[in-house]
Amino acid sequence: METALRLGRYALDHGETPVACIFVHSPTDRIVAFGMNDTNRSLTGVAHAEFMGIEQIREFVSPDELACFFRDVTLYVTVEPCIMCASALKQLGIGKVVFGAGNDRFGGNGTVLSINQDKCTSGGNHESIPGVLRREAIMLLRYFYVRSNEKAPKPRTKGERLLDKENFPPMQWQNYMDRDSFVQEFGPDKIACYESKIDWTSEVKWELIEQCQDSILEELKQHHYQFGLRLKHKKVRR
Ligand SMILES: [Zn+2]
Repeated sequence: METALRLGRYALDHGETPVACIFVHSPTDRIVAFGMNDTNRSLTGVAHAEFMGIEQIREFVSPDELACFFRDVTLYVTVEPCIMCASALKQLGIGKVVFGAGNDRFGGNGTVLSINQDKCTSGGNHESIPGVLRREAIMLLRYFYVRSNEKAPKPRTKGERLLDKENFPPMQWQNYMDRDSFVQEFGPDKIACYESKIDWTSEVKWELIEQCQDSILEELKQHHYQFGLRLKHKKVRR
């Protein structure tokens, strides 16, 4: 998730909504693909971060092998997948989704709908872990809104634009997981966080989101390229 947040910062610095993700192949713990929001550059409303990553995976996994491949993939995304992306991920058979902030308007993994768990949409259900580095993901969105307001024809008053770095909305754990799953994931000592609807840590890793992350894109392209090579090599050896 730290890597996804660094890419989110890159997106912010390049005029995009700071939502980003990485896809990790769980058995090898390697980054397979990455994505960031691309709606502003492409002028395509559906160019969400998840789709960029899915397209990268399709570069080296054939359609008939996709379901088998995605079963071993965990998606780390800074903001909960929207309903459209959650549905696509489910149909592809993703193994697990880990996200930072909830998506209050369009969230498909528990906030608005629970696509990952319901029985009426097609595809296999998948585990979803919320609230990982949530404060960092929220702060990236706040930076974005402050910048957008400053560019607006009628910017709001300075007071309204002031960045809040202290207060965070309650974490509605119960929308995403029951008590038992929470304990299993975060440990019994954190159960008070579940009850009180707060993050399991109040620390914010500012260095991930306040520093320029211009090297991240090249790093991730290398990971993607290397993974493709490994896969090709394995196929040839088979
Ligand atoms: Zn989406």
